[in-house]
This record gives sequence, C-alpha cells and structure tokens, in this order.
Amino acid sequence: MARPHRLPAESSKRGTAVSSSSIKIVWIYPDLLSTYGDQGNTIVLERRAALRGIPTETVHVRSDERVPADGDIFLLGGGEDRPQILAAQRLSRDGGLLEAAGRGAVVFAVCAGYQLLGHEFGGEEGQPVAGLGLLDIRSGRGDTRAVGEIVGDVSAELNVPRITGFENHQGVTRLGPSVQPLARVVAGVGNGDGNGFEGAYRGHVLGTYMHGPALVRNPGLADLLLRWAVGQELQPIDDSWAGRLREERLKAVLPS
Ligand code: GLN
Repeated sequence: MARPHRLPAESSKRGTAVSSSSIKIVWIYPDLLSTYGDQGNTIVLERRAALRGIPTETVHVRSDERVPADGDIFLLGGGEDRPQILAAQRLSRDGGLLEAAGRGAVVFAVCAGYQLLGHEFGGEEGQPVAGLGLLDIRSGRGDTRAVGEIVGDVSAELNVPRITGFENHQGVTRLGPSVQPLARVVAGVGNGDGNGFEGAYRGHVLGTYMHGPALVRNPGLADLLLRWAVGQELQPIDDSWAGRLREERLKAVLPS
C-alpha cells in the first residue's frame, strides 16, 4: 500500500494531520498538457485500483497551482509546443514533481510530458528548451512528424505485454546511458532516433510517445504503475473487455 500521506494543502494548512493509505494520483497541468484524451490515464488507474479494493484520491493541478510533492503517481499528458515550454518552466520553478520523484514517486508521462522530463527538448522553432532532467534523454525536432499507430515490445524486466498506442509528434528523442528504453518498436516510429526504441524509464519514472490513452489500451502498463505505487503484486482482475480493445487495435496495425 502507498505510504501514509497528508491530505492536500488546504487541510494541512488548517493543521489537520489526517493520514490515509489511499493512492494519491496527481494529474499535472490539464490546462496545458492534455491532448488526445490522455486524462483517461487517471480514470483507468482509479478504476483498476478500485477493483482491487485500493482507494485512490485524484488531484487535478492546473499550471497556476502548486504540485503537491506528497503524491504517489504523477501523470503528464501530451501538448502543443508552446504549452509544453510553459509547462516545463512552471514545473521546474515549482519543484514539487522533482521532489516527489526524488523520493521514489511514480511518474508516467506521455509525449510532450515525456520530452520535458529530459535534459532538453526542441521548442516551436526547434530551439533547445531546458527540461527537468528527471530522465537522461534529449529531444530535438525531426524533419517529419510521426503520426499514426504504434506497437512495441516492452523491456523484459518490466513484465508488461506488447503495448499499443497512437503517436503524433515532431520530436525525436535520444536516450542517454542512465535510462532504459521502454520498448522496441514493432510498428510506428517511437523515439525516432534510428535505434528502433520507444519511450524510456529509470526507476519509477517512465515516459512514452503513446497516446490512446496509453493506460486504457494497455492495462499491463497501468498495473505496472500501480504495482510500483503499492510496492507489491496485485490481484488479477477480469480483463476480457480491455483484451478485446487491445486485440482490435493490434489487428488493425499488424494484420496477420
Ligand atoms: N510538441 C511535441 C512534439 O510535437 C509533443 C507533441 C505531443 O505531445 N503530441 O514533438
């Protein structure tokens, strides 16, 4: 179970030291980073936790609000170039996400969110923009936009079945030595750096180019994040409907 944590700022300001063992999910900057339904990732985590009797509390943090450093799972979505730059600047100034990641909180970031976790990424004119440096990756702008379905085989140590998603990005991401690729690309582009990889992770910080939303299409990935948050294996649940969606998407991309 997630470690006990305080309730959000308002209650603690009043000195209410209430602790709970629920998972605190933090959806970062819905006003800047939320393309292609990425917010669905929060709903899937809530639902899959609830099916196992694990309570969750979800906090939506707008870009003019503080990021609560006591979250258990932080989610970032995709975004257009300018909102992405603004998000990187505000997150860096705020420091809450960096603090949380430093003590082992789970961070799951998609596309623009993924790029801004790195050392730098390309702005709207291709200019280098500083990221948060949470992942040892560098992104720049590619010559063409990668748009379409993507499928990848996940790094064996993560124990997650083949993942599927939708990508739409100009960014190309190169991995440094202290991250692992999330997956090897089977179809689509992914990081686009010529090595055939998609996404990257280190510890409990994981980034991907997959929208979908990624955790809706890939319950195995959702459960990986929940496992990391609770620090133990999870009860299996009936995944027949999610399985049908996965099969349909995989068949559409890889007709046999
Ligand atoms: N603006 C970034 C790019 O084009 C990210 C796009 C996205 O999040 N979909 O690479």
